Amino acid sequence: MKVTDHIAQAKDTLISFEVLPPLKGKGIDALYKHLDPLMEFKPSFINVTYHRSEHVFKKRSDGSFEKVIVRKRPGTEAICAAIMNKYNVDTVPHLICGGFSLQDTEDALLTLSYLGIDNVLVLRGDAAKNEAAFEPEPGGHKYASDLLTQVVNLNNGIYLEDELKGTNKTNFSIGVAGYPEKHFEAPNMETDLQYLTEKVDAGADYIITQMFFDNAKYFAFVDACRAIGITVPIIPGLKPIYTKKQLTILPKTFHIDIPTDLSNEILKCKTDDDVLKIGERWLLEQSRKLKKAGVPVLHYYTLGRPKMVADVVREL
Ligand code: FAD
Repeated sequence: MKVTDHIAQAKDTLISFEVLPPLKGKGIDALYKHLDPLMEFKPSFINVTYHRSEHVFKKRSDGSFEKVIVRKRPGTEAICAAIMNKYNVDTVPHLICGGFSLQDTEDALLTLSYLGIDNVLVLRGDAAKNEAAFEPEPGGHKYASDLLTQVVNLNNGIYLEDELKGTNKTNFSIGVAGYPEKHFEAPNMETDLQYLTEKVDAGADYIITQMFFDNAKYFAFVDACRAIGITVPIIPGLKPIYTKKQLTILPKTFHIDIPTDLSNEILKCKTDDDVLKIGERWLLEQSRKLKKAGVPVLHYYTLGRPKMVADVVREL
């Protein structure tokens, strides 16, 4: 079932989770162990992130280095199908521009439709670790809006090969990313919102936000979107904070702010357990206020802390 149908049929705020494919070598049981404690909440859908290949330098026996390409977390499409099969829950695979030719994208979309997956979250992806800025694959998509157009085309039976036009159509519900604190490359919020409007006009059915720790930023973002005519659901993305290190890692990696009240409380903590308790209370408070405000879905980035998220959702 599509994310949009879940939202349309909901009587209350829904719950969804986001997970990463397991690291290569860990096996899918590691992911099931992560998901098991979360399934009692009957999430409406589970997102599975996409991780592109990276160039790494491997040391040869003679001491020289060899550049090799590795994908540390492969299998997004198959994992979505496996989760659907095991838990009978809808899944949302993430699909990115980086590392994909148009043909790769079309093949991935057909694979997903054959697997009975009704949703995709389309993203540009970040720069590869060896790149200073995002580089599209030769002939590939530069922005999420370009990738989105390819998905919309396939939903309308428009394939890369002209002669297939009007044959089997896919039927994906399409989500895109939005940034309450602005995407880090955008010169200003207005420009970023303009490009977000382009994604919605091109056919995005809903928006999932980057994580934020200050609800006021989400509400201001929703207001700004509504003011420029974006009417699709805007799903808040929430992440637990549980270590002092995250106070610097999260802003550096995701270009978001940690509110002073939260950082002050965490800095006072003596143990990791104390930090976890503060983070849990903050996430619960954020969730309560968002739910009270009538958000369509609470979407939790569960990375690393399924139990903490489970405790918050249970309390909620
Ligand atoms: P875009 O919408 O393409 O925007 C990228 C930048 O370009 C923005 O600054 C925008 O303002 C600007 N822009 C957009 N269109 C134009 C245009 N036509 N001309 C000029 N500028 C333009 N990354 C992964 O690799 N895998 C994942 O699974 C993943 N999941 C994510 C899930 C969520 C909910 C979020 C919020 C992010 C996720 N990301 C993931 C990270 C994401 O790929 C990065 O944030 C990336 O830098 C931007 O992706 P986007 O889809 O927002 O890009």
